[in-house]
Amino acid sequence: MTTIAPGATIGIFGGGQLGRMIALAAAQLGYRTHIYAPEASGPAADVSASWTRGEYADVEALAAFATSVDVVTYEFENIDPAAVEVLATHGLVRPGAQALRVAQDRLAEKRFVAALGGLTAPFAPVEDLDDLEQAIEQVGSRAILKTNRMGYDGKGQARLNEPGDAVGAWNAIGRQSAILEGFVTFAEEFSVILVRGADGMIHFWDSAANVHVNGILATSTTPAGALIEGQMEQARALAKQVADALDYVGVLTLEFFASADGPVFNEMAPRVHNSGHWTIEGAVTSQFENHVRAISGLPLGDTGLAAVRVEMTNLIGDDADRWQAILSDPANHLHLYGKHEARPGRKMGHVTRLTL
Ligand code: AMP
Repeated sequence: MTTIAPGATIGIFGGGQLGRMIALAAAQLGYRTHIYAPEASGPAADVSASWTRGEYADVEALAAFATSVDVVTYEFENIDPAAVEVLATHGLVRPGAQALRVAQDRLAEKRFVAALGGLTAPFAPVEDLDDLEQAIEQVGSRAILKTNRMGYDGKGQARLNEPGDAVGAWNAIGRQSAILEGFVTFAEEFSVILVRGADGMIHFWDSAANVHVNGILATSTTPAGALIEGQMEQARALAKQVADALDYVGVLTLEFFASADGPVFNEMAPRVHNSGHWTIEGAVTSQFENHVRAISGLPLGDTGLAAVRVEMTNLIGDDADRWQAILSDPANHLHLYGKHEARPGRKMGHVTRLTL
């Protein structure tokens, strides 16, 4: 098993807040980080030694980047898997291209999980308006149309309530390759976050209850309560199957709806996740540190809880302007991502509170 010893350089695709928090954890363990992103700068720039500005489709620049670092990982999954395969010939990429291929395409992701026996919302592929009309017959008209690619935080999605909503929804998502999902009735949402080492060893963090507002994560709280805890084992078993099938190395997140029929898989992210930010203070080892440990081939840290109760609240848009009031309560751990402009819906930071 390859070990990337402290002192080496970790390459990260994407320069947002997840890259920033991976870089901070890497620095704690004595690694340097080098970001590759299409933007000139970003939240990760403040805490990384190097930044290369390049497009995700620029195979030559990607290859040069891959050879200049000791291992490559990502905070953003919409990178061309073909480019990642090229990179893998120049160096070590963790997680690998197969995880990207599955996780960046909603249809591929749902098919993959359904084939493993996981429960999903009823779904059908949509390439044009005729498909959409057929899909409505199949999954029902109470549904959500989602673009297959590049959707996040509720973007690229349109709700349907009746068959007459088809044209409006198709236009709303920009008439592109999509999936129609039947609307799932659920009581609560949660995620399973695991870390898988290069030796195949898996550790899970406790599942937090996630509350979304306008499609964006608002809070994650653990313990998650009886309903979610009752479904955690089944959800974890599925997550383990997914991680093993992808021969995954690093942190992997699967999001679920806790429904009357059991855990319904919604989507996965081949990376650290917003619903795991509570682990920075709330777990013995954070998702960021264990991601760095896993991709470097180091032993993994304990994922157990460090508090009786942990609550993470996202600071969206101008919520972050309240930083003084937040800091006036000494129990609050404030994280700001250093973004210069607070647009509505933009994740600017988060606050974590522990009950010890
Ligand atoms: P997503 O981008 O797929 O994570 O969706 C964002 C949020 O929309 C989810 O966290 C749910 O709250 C809601 N949602 C997404 N898909 C469905 C579905 N099939 N049924 C009901 N609610 C959904």
